[in-house]
Order: sequence, then C-alpha cells, then structure tokens
Amino acid sequence: MQQSYPPTMDNVEETINFHLEKDKSLAPVFAVYKSILTVQLDYLGKIEVNLTLATEKIKDCFRQGKHLLAEQKPVLDSLLFKEVLASIIKAIQAASPDAPEELTNLAELAEFETKNIDSFLQQVICLNKEEMEAFIEEKEMDKRAALDSEVIAFVIFMSLSPFVVRIMQAVETVAGFSLWRQGYCPVCGQTAQIAKHRNEDGARLLECWFCHAQWVFPRVECPYCDNKEQKKLRFFYVPGNKGYQVHVCEVCKSYLKTVDAKSLQKDVILEIESIATGQLDLLAEQEGYKPPGSRAPLLH
Ligand SMILES: [Zn+2]
Ligand SMILES: [Zn+2]
Repeated sequence: MQQSYPPTMDNVEETINFHLEKDKSLAPVFAVYKSILTVQLDYLGKIEVNLTLATEKIKDCFRQGKHLLAEQKPVLDSLLFKEVLASIIKAIQAASPDAPEELTNLAELAEFETKNIDSFLQQVICLNKEEMEAFIEEKEMDKRAALDSEVIAFVIFMSLSPFVVRIMQAVETVAGFSLWRQGYCPVCGQTAQIAKHRNEDGARLLECWFCHAQWVFPRVECPYCDNKEQKKLRFFYVPGNKGYQVHVCEVCKSYLKTVDAKSLQKDVILEIESIATGQLDLLAEQEGYKPPGSRAPLLH
C-alpha cells in the first residue's frame, strides 16, 4: 500500500515557495518548520516499531471507534527520544533567532533523566495540547525551565511526532484506515484540525497533525458532533480563492479548514497548508466559530 506520509523534501520546498510568493511574512515560520521537519524525517528511518496488536484486533478497535493508543500505549525508545529532543531544540534555535535561550535548559529537566523518562513518555503520549500544557504546569516544568508551557508542549509534541508517525505507518500498512469514521485520529486520538478534498475523486480526507494519519470522512456530516443535517452545514471562503475553505457546523459551532485540492488542481501537503492558512482561522473566529476540540500546537 502506498504510504501517505512523509512528503518528499522537493515537494515540501515547492509548496512552501508557492506560499512565500504570496506572503513573505511566512518566511520565519516556514524556516522553523523546515528545520524541524528535517530532523523528524532524519529520525523516521531510525525508529523501530513492533505492533503488538494483531491486525484483526486493530480492525476491531477501528470498528468500535477506539483509537489505537487508547487500547495499547507503545513503549518508546527513550534514549532515541532524548536524541530527537536535543536535535529538535537545536533545529529551532538554528532556524529562529528569536528562540528563547532557555530552550537549552529543557533537556536538563528531571523528567528527561533516564530513571524518569519512560514513565514521563507513557504519561504524555496520549495528551492533547491543552492537557499537555496543564500537565507541564501542574508539574511546574515551565517554572523549572523558565519557559512557557506552550513552548515546552510544542517541543515535546514535535519530538514525539516521528515515533507516532512510525506507529501510524505500521498500522496503515497492515490495516489501512478505511474502517475508521470519527473526527479524531484512529492512531493517536488527536482531533483533526484540517481536511482536504482529494484531487482525484473529491472525497474528504481528514489529517491528524500529530501522526499524520489520513482517513476519509463523509462530506455532509460534522466530524465533531455527528450532525448530518445538510441545512446546518455550510462553508465559506475568501472571495476569489475557492481552493481554501472553512466548513462550519451550526449545531456545535465548530469549523474545519479545508483545502479543495480539486479546485487547486494539485495535491497538497496539509501540514504546510495548516501553517499558511492563518487567515482562515481569523475569518472563522470572526464569524463566531471555534476550532474543533483541542487546538494543534502550531508554530508561531
Ligand atoms: Zn494521529
Ligand atoms: Zn458539529
């Protein structure tokens, strides 16, 4: 089966350049994104995964709407995680002159010491953005590192991402995601924040910002509250730019940014589109809609 992730670096460059031509102010954020992605892709090949669940069991979970990590938390290679963490911190500092110097302290926190790290990773791997930030504040990691909890959460998510991507790829290979039909991710359970209408057939694909699983979800249905009433689902877009849409639900008042690859006549990399479409978030919030569930930890 063809893997949906990762994109090629050529494709990434081309997509970023396309957006930079329209908006130069995105240059700093894309510099950090590319620097982090390079580290993540570099480590993908070094991470081994052993799926302990049998394929049939995985499919059963999917049929029941249970995401995989809820059924079984993976044991990660914590030494390798520490390497990724250190490399992500260096990558952020190299790409961003404004990065706080205190980032260097982060890897020194007690949580990342050999005796604590396994239990720390088990505790945080299934948290969403708000839960991760609350966890960091409760343990006072932010005070000890002299960093905002949002910054710490971002670095942890970015360092964990290649590990959950490898799990996602292994699951996709054995089971695919065609049995899954929820608004949250079949692998890690994070709420989908962005979608695309596939270029070839117009089907709606949701993507997880964390492990990058992609799965088909019906177009006339809200992914967040199961509303299927067509009258209460609508979309709008920036005039003259129909490829970039905001789909909203009048029942739960959530919005979903959606890239219509069909009207753009090309395939898209949703992670990049997510960064480049801040304007759609503003538009949706001005209209009184809220982002679905927990927000993704975006670069800013
Ligand atoms: Zn996921
Ligand atoms: Zn809804």
